[in-house]
Amino acid sequence: MQRLARRWQSERIPVGFVPTMGYLHAGHLSLVKRARKEVGAHGKVVLSIYVNPTQFAPTEDLAKYPRDLQGDLRRCREAGVDVVFVPSDAEMYPQPAGEAYSTYVLEENLSRRMEGVSRPIHFRGVTTVVAKLFNLVLPRVAVFGAKDFQQATIIRRMVRDLHFPIKIIVAPTVRENDGLAKSSRNKYLSPAERPQALALSQAIQAAREQVRQAARPLPAAKLKALLTRQIQAHPAARVDYLEFFNPRTLEPASQVAPGVQMAMAVFMGKTRLIDNGLL
Ligand code: AMP
Repeated sequence: MQRLARRWQSERIPVGFVPTMGYLHAGHLSLVKRARKEVGAHGKVVLSIYVNPTQFAPTEDLAKYPRDLQGDLRRCREAGVDVVFVPSDAEMYPQPAGEAYSTYVLEENLSRRMEGVSRPIHFRGVTTVVAKLFNLVLPRVAVFGAKDFQQATIIRRMVRDLHFPIKIIVAPTVRENDGLAKSSRNKYLSPAERPQALALSQAIQAAREQVRQAARPLPAAKLKALLTRQIQAHPAARVDYLEFFNPRTLEPASQVAPGVQMAMAVFMGKTRLIDNGLL
């Protein structure tokens, strides 16, 4: 991959990059479209598929994360992806002669909030693997989804702090017709849970409505309690976190007003779903 990327670099061919964990859906393909728009017809679009073990805790769904390489390759071909990069664990985390793998990239501020509270090692895995992928693919532009808002914010920070010469684009969340954010993990939802999963996007809509109707900023704690009650009225739902914050710094907002970002993680049965939106 790196040899190919260096050849493209020497030929002044720009690369647009879309990192994924596979099981591709319309959300991923919207990022491919955006990458193509950035690099043009003479540029190259690279999509990686790698289920990165270092971003999963031992209790999480690494082993059963859904996979469909043949289907993914077909979708990539149809979407005009030039190269699908599918590295192995041994390539991504070299351990020659059984030496333990030992180098990580750590963002120490934004990573500690929200997802980082529930999943303490998650973002260390994400920043590490994305830095590695950037060094292998040498993109001019990389496209991430707003679906993982905190992740995209952390990647932007890493790129700034470590001087990666890469433009980061965050593309809008693609949703099902009923509002559920598309996610590879939606496959885990049972027929009884699937309609209840609308609770997340409905909570964002409800928050927007509250903000629209309010004459002055709303106390975040009050709105959080209201929305948590509404979400947990669905029997399968348990709120992991629900936060209001500044979209640039991720600092918690004590008052909710237009321009505040909202994000949440909700367990639907055993499946953990996330969603977010700007109010
Ligand atoms: P994943 O394969 O879930 O790790 O996601 C790979 C990339 O696709 C990340 O940048 C995600 O934010 C993005 N993505 C996932 N779901 C969506 C969606 N529904 N809309 C837009 N982007 C998405």
